[in-house]
Amino acid sequence: MKFETLAIHAGQTPDPLTGAVMTPIYQTSTYAQDGVGRPRNGYEYSRTQNPTRKALQDCLAALEGGNWGLAFASGLAATDTLLRLLASGDHVLAGNDVYGGTFRQFDKIHRRFGLHFSYVDTTDPEMVADSLTPATRLVWLETPTNPLLNVTDIRAVAEVLKARPNPPLLVVDNTFATPYLQRPLELGADLVVHSTTKYLGGHSDVVGGAIIGRDVELGEKLAFLQNALGAVPGPMDCFLVLRGIKTLPLRMERHAESALRVARFLQSHPAVERVLYPFLESHPQFYVAQRQMRNGGGMISFTLKGGREAAVRVAESTKLFTLAESLGGVESLIEVPAAMTHLSTQGSALEVPASLVRLSVGIEHVDDLLADLEQALEWA
Ligand SMILES: *Cc1c(COP(=O)(O)O)cnc(C)c1O
Repeated sequence: MKFETLAIHAGQTPDPLTGAVMTPIYQTSTYAQDGVGRPRNGYEYSRTQNPTRKALQDCLAALEGGNWGLAFASGLAATDTLLRLLASGDHVLAGNDVYGGTFRQFDKIHRRFGLHFSYVDTTDPEMVADSLTPATRLVWLETPTNPLLNVTDIRAVAEVLKARPNPPLLVVDNTFATPYLQRPLELGADLVVHSTTKYLGGHSDVVGGAIIGRDVELGEKLAFLQNALGAVPGPMDCFLVLRGIKTLPLRMERHAESALRVARFLQSHPAVERVLYPFLESHPQFYVAQRQMRNGGGMISFTLKGGREAAVRVAESTKLFTLAESLGGVESLIEVPAAMTHLSTQGSALEVPASLVRLSVGIEHVDDLLADLEQALEWA
């Protein structure tokens, strides 16, 4: 079946008890057993299994072209659980422009438990190859990156890794692109990670995360960790993500159509220094993006000629774009990463430009969005 159909139906069948068309929110912690040690249909305790969560996990697996999916309480909970596959002394090679919270978790938490990290420009597969060590167990990519919208050729990196005798796992954080635009498992990645808080949920009303993969043994290891660590989402949260996913294809089409219009408008504005959007011809990885992604998505970053002050003034002057962290909802958001989402990267090699403004272009009418940016840019 096609993506649009899977988004609505995968993992979801009418409830066997009542025929309820929408997946019920199984708000229960435990399940009656038919005898001692004889649970019904495998359901024992909701940290381990919950029918609403199972529907979401199966839907996510179908959308990413995986054999299994696991849902978590947040994107960072998914990341934390995934890193528990590793042991003290292992090395992780990560992109040098990863989400601020991912970097903070690597740097402030996992490093204390003996994992080693290095950060490279993954847009250059040669750099990835040169930075691998005999201890490298995992390569962590984001594409497009948050907030600089750098694009990495997933297939090229996967080929570099598969050529190694004991290939490290290739993990792609697919939060920005969503499986509608890009399917990393089809391009050679081993695992996909999501913050479902963003486009998958799509309505800024839930926090969640996910891991999806194909290798069944790896899936069993991660399901063990999901249960052993316990960072699971509640059934209500799973229901909200499932509901959001139903309109993902429609939303992503509109996000991208409007974002391209906004990107072109910004590019022609005298106060703007540089616009970063994967489907602009001026983007350094435009051709990779065209090959790897269905469209450019809804995220745009740009720098202002007036520096940090101008960035702050613009972000504080929009009326329709709400000044807020997060992204991927139906409503448009604006922020200054260096002072907000990416504050944790300050002083590190991952520091982002102070004059950078990030937009999450929503699905309001594009004329209203352009008018709002036009008036705000007068303050720059
Ligand atoms: C938000 C985000 C995360 C973290 O997800 P949470 O749900 O906030 O924990 C990870 N990666 C990217 C790219 C994100 O945008």
